[in-house]
This record gives sequence, C-alpha cells and structure tokens, in this order.
Amino acid sequence: MLIDIVPVGDVTGRVKREASAALRAIYDCDVMVHERQEIPSGSHDPNRDQFRAEDFIELASRIGTGEKNIAITPQDLFYRRRNYVFGLAYLDGSGSVISTYRLQPATDGLSSDGGISTKPREEVFSDRVRKEVVHEIGHTLGLEHCDNNRCVMNFSPTVREVDVKEENLCGTCQRQVL
Ligand SMILES: [Zn+2]
Ligand SMILES: [Zn+2]
Repeated sequence: MLIDIVPVGDVTGRVKREASAALRAIYDCDVMVHERQEIPSGSHDPNRDQFRAEDFIELASRIGTGEKNIAITPQDLFYRRRNYVFGLAYLDGSGSVISTYRLQPATDGLSSDGGISTKPREEVFSDRVRKEVVHEIGHTLGLEHCDNNRCVMNFSPTVREVDVKEENLCGTCQRQVL
C-alpha cells in the first residue's frame, strides 16, 4: 500500500517526517510526501474563522497519488456542528485530513491545554501528530472507533484522550486491517 501525505499550507519538515515514520511503522506501507498545496479556496468559513475539513479531504483524494491520501494542515478545521476536529476521514474512503492547529502543547506550563503528557513540548506535539495520522488512515481502512482507550482508534475529542492513547492499533483493530 502507498500512502501519500499532502501538505496543505505551511507544514514543517518535522511534522512531515513524524507522520511518515508513524504510518510506515504501523501499517508497514510505503509513504510519499506530496508537494505543498494551497488552502482550498472557499474552505474558509468567515463566521467561524475556521476551515471546512471536507474540502481538505476532497483535495487529498483528488491530488494524492496513493491508495490512501492524507492532507496535513496547520489550519483550524471544523466539521458540521462540531466546534473543531483534529482530523476527519470517511470510512473506506481514499482521502483524509489532520490539523496540527490544536495539537500544539500550550506554551504556558504543562497540561494547561488539558493534555497529560509530561514529555518535552516538541515530543508531545510529535506524538499527537503521529497518533492522529494513524487514526485517520485507520478509518480509511475501514476501522471504526474502538472502546479500548489505549488503542489509537479510540475517539479523542480533546488532547487529553490523544495523550492517553498509544500510537498502535490494539489487537482487535490490528486483526481487521493487517
Ligand atoms: Zn475517528
Ligand atoms: Zn482498537
């Protein structure tokens, strides 16, 4: 399987490297990083000052050359009535997206963002990026949310849940996709 990472807007080298490494490690797949794409025009909602996640998925599906394609963007995303999303994917779809916007640890002391990790900030951020890309690609492979709170497919509405879960699929999820 080939997964294409599609950076949308200014995505750092570190984010691209961490995302690639996590996907390779968990899915034992080939990963390529696409050239930078502009933010999809019309994806910005001026009332919310946020960007529509669906438009980024559409871009990843259209531009990406992998069997699975994941957009990564620093922009703040929303989906339907949810205030924000860390990422979005359709079950068994080819496109997906994650936003790094809300994965950045707070600068003013530990856990003020609700996170529970005690690692250095940069590592906390990398861990969250890795878990979110593995999670969204899991959805594109047909995995739904998992009740195991250590499993990467556990639903994580806040960074607290992201920090609790691990980068790996639990045994049950693993048997479904690997
Ligand atoms: Zn999910
Ligand atoms: Zn699981």
